[in-house]
Amino acid sequence: MRDATPQTIYLKDYNVPEYLIESVDLNFILDEQCTRVVSRLCLQRNPDSDHSGDALSLMGEELTLVNLSIDGNALDDTHYKQTDEVLTLHSVPQDKPFVVSIENTINPQANTAFEGLYQSSTMLCTQCEAEGFRKITYFLDRPDVMSTFKTTLIGDKDKYPVLLSNGNPVAKGELAHNRHWVTWEDPFAKPCYLFALVAGKLECIEDSFTTQSGRSIALQIFVESHDTDKCEHAMQSLKNAMRWDEEKYGREYDLDQYMIVAVGHFNMGAMENKGLNIFNTKFVLARPDTATDVDYEHIEGVIAHEYFHNWTGNRVTCRDWFQLSLKEGFTVFRDQQFTGDQTSQAVKRIEDVNLLRTRQFAEDAGPLSHPIRPDSYIEINNFYTLTVYEKGAEVVRMLHTLLDADGFRKGSDLYFQRHDGQAVTCDDFVSAMEAANNRDLSQFRHWYSQSGTPRLSISQSYDVENLQLQLTIQQSTPGTDKRKIKNPLLIPVKIGLLGSDGAPLTLNLNGYPQAKEITLTVTEQTQTFTFEQISEQPIVSLLRGYSAPVIIDMPRSEEELAFLLTHDSDPFNRWEAAQLLASKIILDLVHAIQNGHHLEMPPLLISAFTNLLQQQWTDKSYFSLLIKLPDESFLASQMDIVDAESIHQAREFVRQSLAEQLQTHFQSLYAANSADLSGHFDASAIGSRRLKNICLYYLSALENDATYQLAEAQFSHASNMTDQIAALAALVNSRNPAKQTCLENFYQQW
Ligand SMILES: [Zn+2]
Repeated sequence: MRDATPQTIYLKDYNVPEYLIESVDLNFILDEQCTRVVSRLCLQRNPDSDHSGDALSLMGEELTLVNLSIDGNALDDTHYKQTDEVLTLHSVPQDKPFVVSIENTINPQANTAFEGLYQSSTMLCTQCEAEGFRKITYFLDRPDVMSTFKTTLIGDKDKYPVLLSNGNPVAKGELAHNRHWVTWEDPFAKPCYLFALVAGKLECIEDSFTTQSGRSIALQIFVESHDTDKCEHAMQSLKNAMRWDEEKYGREYDLDQYMIVAVGHFNMGAMENKGLNIFNTKFVLARPDTATDVDYEHIEGVIAHEYFHNWTGNRVTCRDWFQLSLKEGFTVFRDQQFTGDQTSQAVKRIEDVNLLRTRQFAEDAGPLSHPIRPDSYIEINNFYTLTVYEKGAEVVRMLHTLLDADGFRKGSDLYFQRHDGQAVTCDDFVSAMEAANNRDLSQFRHWYSQSGTPRLSISQSYDVENLQLQLTIQQSTPGTDKRKIKNPLLIPVKIGLLGSDGAPLTLNLNGYPQAKEITLTVTEQTQTFTFEQISEQPIVSLLRGYSAPVIIDMPRSEEELAFLLTHDSDPFNRWEAAQLLASKIILDLVHAIQNGHHLEMPPLLISAFTNLLQQQWTDKSYFSLLIKLPDESFLASQMDIVDAESIHQAREFVRQSLAEQLQTHFQSLYAANSADLSGHFDASAIGSRRLKNICLYYLSALENDATYQLAEAQFSHASNMTDQIAALAALVNSRNPAKQTCLENFYQQW
């Protein structure tokens, strides 16, 4: 336990750093129990700081100080004061640059928090974000202190044959007692949270990438020797991400070398250290027989996310940790766009919205609710939240929607141009978007400071005389903190209107260009939009593409939902209609079960599904999602008192009824998609597997010999994990007597 009372840190108290560190020279003599760190900091007073006094306070935790000097003059303990967290030098030069040299030791083996320098199996590695660098040596450990780093690693040749740090290797050599050394130099000034070192017995898989300006970049993935056959996909993903960032954002990689290290012990998914990413093995290693399609997609997404940070996070970094969403919100948005381009925009959007609505909404409705840019924190490690990441990405996406793709790109270009090499704020990001598009976004800024999920209540009235549709939108943002008044937000609401034949109607709305789809700019507490020349009562397709992270209150009949499921041209709303329709039907059945009534399958869902199954689909992953029943957890979230057994029973009843009525459709789709595509992980191969396996899921509800054989055959012939695990799931959830043998075989196989 610490005896000090935890201190709350407030955004409003921000002050520029009193001192700046121009450059850092680090020497590590590596040892798992006693690593020696010699650090040479070139410091000077920050001309922008107006603090008085001549003391210098460096952060440092769990360090053993050995030597300390200023400009070569050793200091004794009358010249400094040390606490558990701070080393204060009583007097340092104010009118000229000066050098502080520090020698300290650390114990990586005892570091079970995995922050700073720690041991992972036989490897030594680091994690410095957010405040881990202060567990390596004394420093101004804050992101607005940016320095160039030169790092020399010294270690035993057998234990640590590979010695890595940020930047480019510039020198190496041998030493007595079977030791060697390597010096790395990173020419780009960076905050210390992006520092990294790795030392260990690692194998390297190499490739290269030629940038748009013709530079050749060496790409290296470091893993333990038994994992070298599982890196191909990660390498390809990296190359895809590098190309995409050049094409979509005009961002080229800067160093000569890009390294990824896969580590067994890692607190987070991965870390974007400059030029030396450190990854949890889960997000690097994949082979067709060991990893599912979902694993493959996640690996590509995470590799891309960390790569994209090189510009959104590293070259332009955060001024303070309150601005975490500046780098994370934007980078998550970028990786979402990238994954959508690589796989399916519709499916990626649905998955992201699912995560947001199930988990971030819950966070935002509970005691942990906070704005994407918090006002205060006690422990920054607690703010790596779904709100900062996922809602943060939604806020960036809304800017993209409001400014459209071209305007957004102009804004991001200006942002990089203005702030390359700087530590900046969320406000700077919005300002660049404003300036590039000549647009006032002051009201939009409330998204950064207000917590809670906004709710939009929608009402509509159609005037048959004047051929007008009036749509009234009322917004409210409930907060856990009732004392704070919430301002109305600027909310982009993308909308389309459908005629009775399912065709889109032309929208005539004062102040907007005539179009089939427009984005309403909602700014008032209550606002009415009047659409002119609407010749019939239309069906409203609202919040297309889920254009804002809000909850919509708008009652819909089952007929209306079935209509949208059949006709809506917006893939997100079409899927949403399918989920809501199936939910309504299943929850009605839950009610019937609870009241002991006879269960009957409504024909509406059967006919809607028949309609879907008869169409040709190019995006088979999306089609599979359309015909997937809502999860039991989603159904449970719609009930005041959750009746788990009735939910399961009702959902199984629907599954079985659909399987019985649509058996021939499922069978022929299964057959049409069962070509052997193992070893292929493109969107089309993954889509075929998804479709085949959802057909198997329905068919296995029939509990007959034909479907038992189908599942058994797929299980024993599968050469990829996706097909094998899908077949096994179908088997273990059936009454098939072979399931015991299959489970035993799977166990023996792995
Ligand atoms: Zn990130």
